[in-house]
Amino acid sequence: MKELVIISGKGGSGKTSVAASFAVLAQPAVIADCDVDAADLHLLMSPRINERHEFHSGHEAVIRQEDCIGCGACLAHCRFEAVVRMPTTFGSNSVCKDCEFCVRSCPVRVNEMIRAMRESSGYQGDEAAFYIDPVACEGCGVCVQFCPVQAIDFPECLCGEWMVSDTRCGPMVHARLGIAAENSGKLVCTVRREARRIAEERNHELIIVDGPPGIGCPVIASITGSDLVLAVTEPTPSGEHDLKRVVQLARHFGIPMAVCINKWDINEDMSARIETFCNEQSIPLAGKIRYDQALTRSQIQGQAVVEAEKHGAAADLRNLWAAISATLLQFSNHAA
Ligand code: SF4
Ligand code: SF4
Repeated sequence: MKELVIISGKGGSGKTSVAASFAVLAQPAVIADCDVDAADLHLLMSPRINERHEFHSGHEAVIRQEDCIGCGACLAHCRFEAVVRMPTTFGSNSVCKDCEFCVRSCPVRVNEMIRAMRESSGYQGDEAAFYIDPVACEGCGVCVQFCPVQAIDFPECLCGEWMVSDTRCGPMVHARLGIAAENSGKLVCTVRREARRIAEERNHELIIVDGPPGIGCPVIASITGSDLVLAVTEPTPSGEHDLKRVVQLARHFGIPMAVCINKWDINEDMSARIETFCNEQSIPLAGKIRYDQALTRSQIQGQAVVEAEKHGAAADLRNLWAAISATLLQFSNHAA
């Protein structure tokens, strides 16, 4: 079984369009969408979801108000400013919410007058309740250790979900990370693990992974241990710059790599520069895809361009797939 991972140094370079066309041309293969932060392969693959699984990762501190004695130890020890102190008068008839903005901002420091006004507005003292901002909480657990009355719960976080689906091109594993949720690298590993399990179960020889953009944790989680990385770039300064970073990353992990230039004809000089770079680095240029509005039209129809067209970018993608599948075949022959 071989695992091909399609990545790009930057977002928007056409990686998902390439992955969708490969999924059509390579049947049968297992498709894995590992761009879990901004998954969009499902828009072209129209998956019918068979299984949904919750994705739990990390922990989140939650104060049980009924047990909290208001000592403030959690506030003092949290390095992420995730503990919020709220006056207990909040929500009562008092106009003053004790935010102290006036005390901090008054240009002539008439703090005594401010305090008198605050009391006359119905403020009842400086008793406060403590809450934890779930977005700011890093789940380090320090507050849990320091709370003298064990009033802080520390449950696992529900960070998203992952799904197993059927598509017209074969099985697909995909995921959705929750808003502001972290640990996308762990979710990527889950998607890859499931894709591998399905490929073994159904005797599929290929897994096509639509990887995340960039060079961060989710990309590392997508490419480690794979058989071939295809970097999709475009002829722009940022495309060239980010391709160089992706090359370093793949080299670091010792993963064979090929490059494809998408929309190569929008800047032929820059495309030639990228080609020269690939030659200097001994990285095979597996193909070039021309700019073609047919790609956008097929996206709007929820299709891969190779399903809708024969010529133009669709022909380039077929040639690209021929080059990539030949490379994968070589690897299989060497392994045998
Ligand atoms: S778990 Fe860590 S980050 Fe979260 S509130 Fe407690 S100390 Fe702050
Ligand atoms: S450390 Fe515990 S008791 Fe003290 S304010 Fe925080 S949650 Fe309440």
